[in-house]
Order: sequence, then structure tokens, then C-alpha cells
Amino acid sequence: MSRPIQAVVHLDALRHNLQIARQYAGDSQVYAVVKANAYGHGIERVYPAFQSADGFALLDLAEALRLRQLGWQGDILLLEGIFCLEDLFVCQQHCLSFSIHSAHQIDWLQQFQRQHPEARFHVYLKMNSGMNRLGFTPATYRDAFAQLQALEIIASITHMMHFSDADGERFGAPGIDYQQQCFEQTIAGLPGKRSLCNSAALLRHAPALHSDVMRSGIMLYGSSPDFPQHTIQDWNLKPSMSLRSEIIAVQQLKAGESIGYGSSFVAEKSMRIGVVAWGYADGYQRISPSGTPVLVNSQRSQTLGRVSMDMLAVDLSHLPDADIGAEVVLWGYSSSGAILPVDEVSQAAGTVGYELMCAITARVPFVVQA
Ligand SMILES: *Cc1c(COP(=O)(O)O)cnc(C)c1O
Repeated sequence: MSRPIQAVVHLDALRHNLQIARQYAGDSQVYAVVKANAYGHGIERVYPAFQSADGFALLDLAEALRLRQLGWQGDILLLEGIFCLEDLFVCQQHCLSFSIHSAHQIDWLQQFQRQHPEARFHVYLKMNSGMNRLGFTPATYRDAFAQLQALEIIASITHMMHFSDADGERFGAPGIDYQQQCFEQTIAGLPGKRSLCNSAALLRHAPALHSDVMRSGIMLYGSSPDFPQHTIQDWNLKPSMSLRSEIIAVQQLKAGESIGYGSSFVAEKSMRIGVVAWGYADGYQRISPSGTPVLVNSQRSQTLGRVSMDMLAVDLSHLPDADIGAEVVLWGYSSSGAILPVDEVSQAAGTVGYELMCAITARVPFVVQA
């Protein structure tokens, strides 16, 4: 038998979460963000659940072409835009939309138009409204818009921005009110659709933001964008990924005995310990401390000691029936339906659900559950 590890992708949960995004989006379009190989799930695996999305957003050309190979004919938005002039040939050939966030990209479009005046592109003009990552500042935005508008090859321009604090307070710089105001003032009077919302903005603020195109990512994958203020249960989202393994050895520790590298966990009393086939080489964060939650036989327990490359240890003291072969869930659903949200695990590890899901390594076998 092969090592008993498995990542399960739940299509019904992905469908359900997209439906929740639609509820919050009202009449606006909902794009499914599938960057980073669909947040670690695999683009090919999630695609059947997302075919009713209005578009897809990602940033690798190769991932965009994989969507085209799957048969997707609708819009695909490249969130980081084009990285060189040659990318425009690929965008033209495969009808890809892209963001324009810097002046050098407008130069490339001007060059491209001289050679290919017949090309037509739908672009998203990105404003830097306070996050200071990508985009034109309010002072340069309207000029960039005018330059694009003057190009024959530009078929439409959508106004785009990204919130740095959509999961946090509304006020103060760069709270969302500040960024929204900056955006509204800058585009006042300009024609074009608008794309503002990530998951946090969509769930928390969508009606006030007038976003025609929502870019929903993390919520589709069953992680709450503003955990711990709201859990996935609060937002009625479902885990879309379950990591499952088994107990492959049991140890009985006496008081004073330790477990794992560095002997970082020392038993204060006699304890029953399960060793689980799952380690940091499978993508579990080594930084996860003792006490990180897990499910054993659908019941809550916790990790003990350091995570090793291929193994980690869990407490079985309160689970006398859990023996060799007992199911261990690192996050997601147990096979009998108990839930351990990825957000609780990421909180223990001092990170976010995004990072955990993206970190699953190539040696972990995936299965897709309808
Ligand atoms: C990743 C990304 C999103 C999606 O964000 P979530 O928090 O996962 O919903 C939206 N817009 C841009 C520009 C992004 O890079």
C-alpha cells in the first residue's frame, strides 16, 4: 500500500462557494480567481465547478492557456498584466485580457499597434489607490486612460483597483473608505466598467463599492478572508480541500519523556501519542507549534512537538479507540463530515489559509470528489 496521504478537492463545496459569491455580488459579474494553480487545488480539478463563473483571473500565461485547453471561451484576466512585448502576441492569439499597471506596458501596446493595427484587447487599467504595489497613481491615472483610449487596438478599458485592508477597518489611510474615495475622485466622469472587490471586499462591502466585476479568490476555497472576525460558518462557506492521512505508529510516553526533534514537547504526565504520515515535505508548515488542531477519527486533537519532514505527532490520550490506521485530518472534512477549517490551522501557524493551501507539495496525491 502506498503512503496513506491524500488531498481531496470537493467540487460541491467549490460550486456552493461560487454561489455564495454570486449572492453577495448581486447583479455584478463574478470572476473566479485561480492563480497559483487555483490556490493549490489544481486548475483542471476546480474547472468543472467554476464553469458558471463569468470569467477567470490569474497571472501566469501558462495557466491561462491551460484554461483555454479545458475549453473555456470566456474572459480570462491576467492580474499582473503583460511582462514583455511578446506576451501581447499570446494575448491576441488566445483572447486574454490583462491589467495595465505601468507606463512601460502602454509603450508596448503602442509598439504593438504599429505592427498589428487589427488586434483588439480588453484591458483593466489599474489604479494605485494606496496599496503601493501596482497601478497608476491618481495623478497619472487619467493621462494613462487617455493614452489607452487613443489606441485603436484597445476595445474596452475597465477601471481596476485592489484593497489593502478590505478585511479590516473601514477608516483611516489606507482603510477601504480612503481607497474608494481616491478611486471615485480619480475616475469621475470617465466611461468604463469597474473592478474593485476581492473576497473580503465582496463579502463585507460589495453594495457600497459599485464593482461591476468581482475578483473572488480565497472565499471560493473555503477560507474566510477576515478570520477570526468571521469564520467560514459565519459566511456560509464550505471547505474545498481536505488533507487526510492516518496514524502509522502509536507511542506511550511517560511523564518527562519527549517527542520529535529537539525534544521540544515534554510530556507532563503519561500520554498516548499517534504518529501521522504527514510532514513539512507534504506542505505542512514546520513552524506550526504544539497545539495546532487536527481531527483524529473526526474528533479534535492537536499536534505535539516539532513537525518533521515526513511525520508529525498528535495527542491520542483522550481517544483510546484511535489506533493504527485511524483517520487524521490536517484540515477540511473528515470522511464522516466533521470540519476543521483551514483558518484555524493557519492561525496556529501564524499565517493565512492562502499560504497553507498553496504549499501542498507535488508528492501529495489528489483526488476529486463530486
Ligand atoms: C489574488 C487577487 C484577488 C483575489 O483575492 P482574494 O483575497 O483571494 O479574494 C483579487 N484581485 C487581485 C488583483 C489579486 O491579486
